[in-house]
Amino acid sequence: MDKKIVLLGPPGSGKGTQTERLCAELKLTKISTGDLLREAVRNNTPLGVKAKGYMDAGRLVPNELVVDLVKEKIKCVEGGVILDGFPRSLEQAELLDRFAKVDLAVDIEVNEDNLVRRLTLRRTCRSCNAVYHLEFNPPKVESICDKCGGELFQRSDDTERTVRERLKVYKEQTLPLTKYYSKKGILRKVDGEGDIGTVYQRVLKAIKG
Ligand code: ADP
Ligand code: ADP
Ligand code: ZN
Repeated sequence: MDKKIVLLGPPGSGKGTQTERLCAELKLTKISTGDLLREAVRNNTPLGVKAKGYMDAGRLVPNELVVDLVKEKIKCVEGGVILDGFPRSLEQAELLDRFAKVDLAVDIEVNEDNLVRRLTLRRTCRSCNAVYHLEFNPPKVESICDKCGGELFQRSDDTERTVRERLKVYKEQTLPLTKYYSKKGILRKVDGEGDIGTVYQRVLKAIKG
C-alpha cells in the first residue's frame, strides 16, 4: 500500500484512532500535524511558542507554521502515508498539491453531539499519542497507556468551550475540502458512527475498494 491518503472529518470523528490502526496493519506512515504541533509546544520550540495561542483558542495555526512541517516529513517517507489533520483549509490543500500527489481523501462523518461527547472524555498518551476514551475505549489500567505504559492526559483544548470553537472552525474552513476532493474524483465518505472496529472496516473498504 503506497498511497497518500488524507483523512478529513471533524475533530473527534476518529481520525487519530483509525490512523493508528491503519498504520499498524497496512504499514503506512502517519503524519499528524496536531501531534507534531503539540510536541513543539511541549518542547517550547520557537514554532511551539508561536502555535500555542492558536491551539488553546481552537483556531488554526497559520500556514507558515504548519506547511513546512508536513513538507519536511513527507519527503523522508517511502511508501504510503496517512495525513491526519492536514490539510485543513483550501489554501493548505492547494499548497499540498504542489509538493505531493494525494491519491485519496477519506471523510469520516459523525454527528455533532457525538463529537462533543467523544472529545470531552478523550484521553491522550503523553509518550506515544495513542488516544483513549473514558467510556468508549478505556485503557486497561486507569491513566496508563496500554501500548507503551505512558501517562494519559486530557488535552487542554478538549474542553466543551474550545471544542465548540473547533467545530465552528471545522465547518468554516475544513468542510469545503470535501468539495475540493470530490471534484478531483478522489473523495470517499465513511459513516463514522458505531464502534471503533466497525468504523475501521468501513475505512478499510474505502481505502481498498
Ligand atoms: P480525531 O483525531 O478525529 O480528533 P480521535 O481518534 O482522537 O479523533 O477520537 C476522538 C475520541 O473519540 C477519542 O476519545 C476516541 O477514543 C473516541 N473514538 C474514536 N472513534 C470512536 C468510535 N467509533 N466510537 C466511539 N468513540 C470513538
Ligand atoms: P482534532 O483532530 O482533535 O481537532 P488535532 O490534534 O488535529 O485535533 O489539532 C489540534 C489543533 O492543532 C487544532 O485545533 C489547530 O489549532 C492545530 N492544527 C492541527 N493541524 C493543523 C493544520 N493543518 N493547520 C492549522 N492548525 C492545525
Ligand atoms: Zn502510549
